[in-house]
Amino acid sequence: MSIENTRPPHGGHNDQGITVLLRRMHDAVAQEASAQQRLDHLTRTIAAHVVADVCSIYLRRPDDELELYSTEGLNREAVHRTRLGIGEGLVGLVAQSRRPLVTDDAPHHPAFAYRPETGEDPLSAFLGVPLIRSGKTLGVLVVQNRTARNYTDEEVEAVQAVAALLAEIAASGELLSQEETAVVGEMLHRPETLSGFPIVDGVASGAAVFLQPPAPKHKVFASDVATEATRLEQGLTELRASVDAMLADNASLGGVSRDVLETYRLFAYDRGWKDRLRAAVFSGLTAEAAVEQVKNENRSRLLQARDPYLRERLHDLDDLAHRLLRLLSGDKNGARGQLDGDTILVARVMGPAELLEYDRKNLKGLVLGEVSATSHVAIVARALKIPMVTGLGDAIDRCEQGDQVIVDGDKGEIHIRPTSDVVEAFRARKELQSERQEAYVKERELPARTKDGADVTVMINAGLALDMPHLNDTGAHGVGLFRTELQFLIGSQLPSATAQEALYREVLDLADGKPVIFRTADIGGDKTAAYMDHGNEMNPAMGWRGLRMAVDRPGIIRPQLRALLAAAAGRTLHIMFPMVTLASELDHARAQLEREVDRIRRRGGAEPEKILIGAMIETPAAAWRIEEIAAKVDFVSIGGNDLAQFYFAADRDSERVQRRYDMMNPGFLSFLHQCLEKARAAGVSVSYCGEQAADPVNAAALIAVGVREFSVPAPSVGPFRRLIRSLDAGEIGAWAASEFGAPDDTLRERFTAFLLEKGANIASIEG
Ligand code: PEP
Ligand code: MG
Repeated sequence: MSIENTRPPHGGHNDQGITVLLRRMHDAVAQEASAQQRLDHLTRTIAAHVVADVCSIYLRRPDDELELYSTEGLNREAVHRTRLGIGEGLVGLVAQSRRPLVTDDAPHHPAFAYRPETGEDPLSAFLGVPLIRSGKTLGVLVVQNRTARNYTDEEVEAVQAVAALLAEIAASGELLSQEETAVVGEMLHRPETLSGFPIVDGVASGAAVFLQPPAPKHKVFASDVATEATRLEQGLTELRASVDAMLADNASLGGVSRDVLETYRLFAYDRGWKDRLRAAVFSGLTAEAAVEQVKNENRSRLLQARDPYLRERLHDLDDLAHRLLRLLSGDKNGARGQLDGDTILVARVMGPAELLEYDRKNLKGLVLGEVSATSHVAIVARALKIPMVTGLGDAIDRCEQGDQVIVDGDKGEIHIRPTSDVVEAFRARKELQSERQEAYVKERELPARTKDGADVTVMINAGLALDMPHLNDTGAHGVGLFRTELQFLIGSQLPSATAQEALYREVLDLADGKPVIFRTADIGGDKTAAYMDHGNEMNPAMGWRGLRMAVDRPGIIRPQLRALLAAAAGRTLHIMFPMVTLASELDHARAQLEREVDRIRRRGGAEPEKILIGAMIETPAAAWRIEEIAAKVDFVSIGGNDLAQFYFAADRDSERVQRRYDMMNPGFLSFLHQCLEKARAAGVSVSYCGEQAADPVNAAALIAVGVREFSVPAPSVGPFRRLIRSLDAGEIGAWAASEFGAPDDTLRERFTAFLLEKGANIASIEG
């Protein structure tokens, strides 16, 4: 890597060069007796291989100082003497930023810290790369050159590959003394608190289980290369067979989309991938370490890739490598669902169907990398009362399978490996929360009436028979939104009309005379059933879903309508259609319903006593012409999750844009106000069933713009009713109306201040 040497650093071919280097590193570790000798041999090997004047390894001490452990090129007296704090000097900066740092003029870099004992005065070029394992910075690998030169991307990549391997061997015990390895182990297992965003409130604790479990612990260097090559070959064969089986067998697809599996297959059969794995094994690594090594190389390449599609594939590629690692460890059991004891499930992304695959008794909390409050996985988690936090992509790297984790769904934090006092504090909070819940149960008979006498109807959102006991616990008026698609998502095939009928009958029986509004299956968007082919839609939320699918595929809606009619024989049936865009779409839905009613009559079967039809207002097109829709139905319900998504043109599932626009935007609130007025003028009742009302300030704003019927997640009912009793609907309505034209992006802060001034109980919904 010196300027004198202008040839590419690895004999012209990067992968081959890395392989040679790995082999030399293997020899270095195998040959030397003491930990210091092994490290020194490594720095010598790396420096020679990358043609650097200096190669140094700094390791992080438990006191968070970075200590020079070995060097080739700097003064040897500096070893174990030179120390830098995290963030101090270029080395400290690399550790702090956890990113490579490249400069051709180190002494003039603003972060440069001079350490005379190292004798590094004449060194200009600097490349530092962090040693990261399980999300923790274990140290820094540095190469330096006297001449001012820029390291190429290829060179940076090579040093990153070496750093990844060094981090692995530092943790495996093959590099350091027993004592030092214990220090590294301790660092990897310190208690940590990570902050993200709250999605489902409540607190929970349990052992971390990964949706995609991490690779089991393994040795890094092979004792017999031939054995490792055979193991790798066998692992690849099993991997390919398992991916083929998944593709062939529709029933086993589970929640994983076919697209992803097609990509797995591509990678699983990729010749280049296999060649690189084999080369890594022949350089002296175990099959597992080879997979890790190639995975890390791919990762750094993909992370630098600009193309978002390519970056997304990173997730798939990681998954494939993980599967291979599990197969290599002898774990042939890919089955999910079974959980032993209290569990916190940790994943980067997750769909609602995947969540439903898990055993609910032991699933206590959820930690997701990316998800929004109105995504369907959040809705299902809320229905199941599973505390959930998001924005914690890091969690996967920072905790290990089996670590104890506390999920604080109120604050949006998690505590990994908490100390005993944190555990105790949370136990007390949990107790307090259950006491509060008991208090809400006692208040359930109190009227949901504002201080100035406006009655508000509070219903619950549901989707499983399991939700129905909440009706009684909360004293809710009924089920304002029963998401029937959940049954469609749980199974591996379309539920039969008989199975649907059984569920609807059970739900109506459990409701015991309270109204239940069944929303016909809204499949599509993020609620894809593995057995249905949605084609390759670029924008599934705006694609073939809800009523659109029902219009095109009577084969799905007709059995569902038949099941609903049969289950509600002799009782009142409420049916609501999702994702209405044009009023004419309702004519199609009605025509199908009428056919099913005729069918019953022809056969002399029992019909519902009364059928009430509703439409969801979820698209701006439907909201703008709500009176046309209203003319065709008995009631409408504003699906605020989707309506806000389409109003702001901001994907409700995208972490990046979800919090960018607030529903407390004066434009959106006045838009809702107009919709309500128009619907009422058309003579239909109008409710609001978006999840936003689970937030107290949102809920108060919705009352202010005129909503009087709500359907909210069950856990919000008690606190919501308490909030209602503390509000003056006229007063907040006047405030909102005077602000409809305000230029603010959001009225949240000012409205919150107003509510607090008026003594509204807005802290209560968080329970
Ligand atoms: C909505 O969009 O607000 C709604 C209630 O429906 P879902 O969340 O199921 O799309
Ligand atoms: Mg919706």
